[in-house]
Amino acid sequence: MMKQYLQVKEQYKDCLLFFRLGDFYEMFFDDALIASKVLELTLTGRNCGQEEKAPMCGVPYHSVQSYIARLVKQGYKVAICEQMEDPALAKDIVKRDVVRVVTPGTANLDMALSDSTNNFLACIYTDDENFGICFADVSTGDFFATYGRQDIAEGKMANVIACYKPTEIIVNQSALKFERIFANLKKRCDFYLSYVPDEDFELADCENRVREKFGAYSESEQALGENKYALRAAGGALKYLDDTQKVSLSNISNASVYNSSSFVEIDLSSRRNLELTETMRDKGKKGSLLGILDKTSTSMGARLLRKWIEQPLINSDEINMRLDAVEFFVKNIAVRSEAVKALGGIGDIERIMSKVVYGSVNARELVALKNSLLFLSEIKQVSKDFETPYLTRIAESLDAATDLYKLINSAFVDDPPLTVREGGMIKPGFDPELDKIKDTVKNGARIIAEIEAREREATGVKNLKISYNRVFGYYIEITKSNIDKAPDRYIRKQTLTNCERYITEELKDVENTILGANERVTAIEYDDFCAVRDAVSRNMDRILLQAKLVAVIDVLSSFALVAESNGYVKPAVDDSDVIDIKNGRHPIVEKFLTDSLFVPNDTYLDTDKNRFAIITGPNMAGKSTYMRQTAVIAVMAQIGSFVPASECRIGVVDKIFTRVGASDDLAAGQSTFMVEMNEVANILNNSTKKSLLILDEIGRGTSTFDGLSIAWAVVEYLSDKNLIGAKSLFATHYHELIALEDEIDGVNNYSIAVKKHGDDITFLRKIVKGGTDDSFGIEVAHLAGVPKKVVSRAKEILANIEKGEFSHEHKSISYDAGKTSSEEISNKVIGMIKNYDISTLTPIEALNEIYKLQKIV
Ligand code: ADP
Repeated sequence: MMKQYLQVKEQYKDCLLFFRLGDFYEMFFDDALIASKVLELTLTGRNCGQEEKAPMCGVPYHSVQSYIARLVKQGYKVAICEQMEDPALAKDIVKRDVVRVVTPGTANLDMALSDSTNNFLACIYTDDENFGICFADVSTGDFFATYGRQDIAEGKMANVIACYKPTEIIVNQSALKFERIFANLKKRCDFYLSYVPDEDFELADCENRVREKFGAYSESEQALGENKYALRAAGGALKYLDDTQKVSLSNISNASVYNSSSFVEIDLSSRRNLELTETMRDKGKKGSLLGILDKTSTSMGARLLRKWIEQPLINSDEINMRLDAVEFFVKNIAVRSEAVKALGGIGDIERIMSKVVYGSVNARELVALKNSLLFLSEIKQVSKDFETPYLTRIAESLDAATDLYKLINSAFVDDPPLTVREGGMIKPGFDPELDKIKDTVKNGARIIAEIEAREREATGVKNLKISYNRVFGYYIEITKSNIDKAPDRYIRKQTLTNCERYITEELKDVENTILGANERVTAIEYDDFCAVRDAVSRNMDRILLQAKLVAVIDVLSSFALVAESNGYVKPAVDDSDVIDIKNGRHPIVEKFLTDSLFVPNDTYLDTDKNRFAIITGPNMAGKSTYMRQTAVIAVMAQIGSFVPASECRIGVVDKIFTRVGASDDLAAGQSTFMVEMNEVANILNNSTKKSLLILDEIGRGTSTFDGLSIAWAVVEYLSDKNLIGAKSLFATHYHELIALEDEIDGVNNYSIAVKKHGDDITFLRKIVKGGTDDSFGIEVAHLAGVPKKVVSRAKEILANIEKGEFSHEHKSISYDAGKTSSEEISNKVIGMIKNYDISTLTPIEALNEIYKLQKIV
């Protein structure tokens, strides 16, 4: 047996091998050491013909799922090796084979999955020029691919990965040289990474696999055929799924492909800055846009909403279709509440169907599917009142699958057990043969009662009784005082203190019939169960389509609910270049303000006279909130949601970039300034006229003159109609930049109003035309509780600076300011080096310093 074990293990070196031995799955050697630690199992040893015993540990078969789920969550792969024949019938060692490899990205175990998120496997094929990524979720049947240019500086590949947060990534071997990208990403999202041979991505093989899976000339085949990289990624994914899952994944029946022109491009750091699906602080959903917008009733809806937020649309027609549907649900409360009520009864159809695929579904889950179909028929009923093109199209495709409902309803009792091998599932009337045998069992009970009465009569023992236990089967029990009345035909089986137990020939015969019948009942019930399950399986595509439709209705009605309770309005979305928001609010900040009301503000941006807004104002005034709210409102409009404003027009944007703080990148070993400049480079290289840019304090990470010069040049470049001309909001502390309003057409100054009284200031939170050159830094410091002594000393120093020469130089900075003589440079460098406190300088700070020195020389 150990030989057999080692042979199997040889083929699954990268997995923990769960080796079925009777009622247990056992692990040996290193696998046992790992599993015993992770799962807190007792480690034992087993003789395996070697000098030392093999370390071993095991888990009982009936609870194996929870153990596997725990291992997979920790990033291990588990190969499940089953007995392939009945041990009682096996002549030699029982045949065993691996029936499935469970990996983090292919787990469909309840315990390893979250209801509201997909569990994606990402398969990447990349070379020096391009990449293709395919995402597959075996627990829902989602399968789609995308592709792009492999430019590390642009980070497109990383952005796509970060968007879908796969739990597992497989990559072609020769991409090992891009290891750094994955290492960096791993700090942000948690995934299990492995490399697979490049041969798995041979174009011709991939084409064949795709054709075989989705059908020749199918839409999926044609979509994937559009781009070789997407095709290879999909082909690689199909091979991996085949190798590990070993079942035909009939829930994956079509594939889609999207490219960068399908959805708004939002890079990794912008997604985080805008807190679209998780907060920056604790990465939780609460406090993110998703948290605000999610009033979905089904798991399918929750997953779709997340996807929509991650993929804002660019096509204004598609956006308006969604918006019109939401408007319908806002206006037709009765229809909406009927629909929402019915949605509440719909279970996770996608995950149930995935279990059907894997053969792990039980009758209780099929009953849940049946109940969902009942609620689906209610939705179908309500959908007769649906209007707007999007909703009526959905209504036309709704199909409550009454035939399947009837089948499941006639087959299963309302509350069947979790196991499928012990009977108790099938309703009377479903299978006449089964009913007949069940009758025999019932009759058996009657016959036993008859025998009992007869034996009492024959022996004259009034309290003689017939009972049953697992060891002896049926037996006659007579109390001690009456044992002399037991006739000879009674065969004694057991003596207890106050009674004797006997069997008789007749009793044994009846017992055989009854027990045989019981066994047949469970066998037939199992067969019936399988027949129903297979019938459900044959309807895979049909049911999964319903799941998709339900999800869309769920999200649209959830948008309507949120719009109503938060006072959002329908945005007018078009292909113009105008963003015109009246009384806009930040949907998250307004929810979390406790001691004041949110002050709404207008935004007007176009690609002409109002391209570029330079926003000044003290810290804490609300600059960043204002800028983010503009971007978040654009995202909301482009996913089809109503928006927090009194009126709103959004000309679709193609990309959103934000450059805000980047504190946690320090952990990734980059200096703040480097990160900032990387992001600025990315924005300058990739934004277009149609992009929306949010730039918060560019140039802050370096010396004042450097920073100001960089900020100045960035404004000039971005606002130049002939270069980029993107719609931009730019918050800055460099008041010198206010001057640009007069120099560049399209640049406008704004500030956030503040009222000063004495040493105190009040934030009015209102955005007003015109710049301010007062930063109220000292007042804000005072407000924040900096000691009075420090505050008044700061005032003194400020007054001195303002009087002194420095102030003159500071004010008159021009684009080529900062040119210094070489003597000044040497002095500055020597001064800086002398001032270093080597004993407290961290390596990162040191790198920063070297960077600064380099800049100066
Ligand atoms: P800044 O970027 O100017 O330093 P923030 O945008 O971070 O300021 O805003 C600071 C705080 O002020 C926010 O956390 C929020 O609580 C509050 N705030 C900002 N804008 C508004 C507003 N329009 N109405 C009410 N409170 C606001």
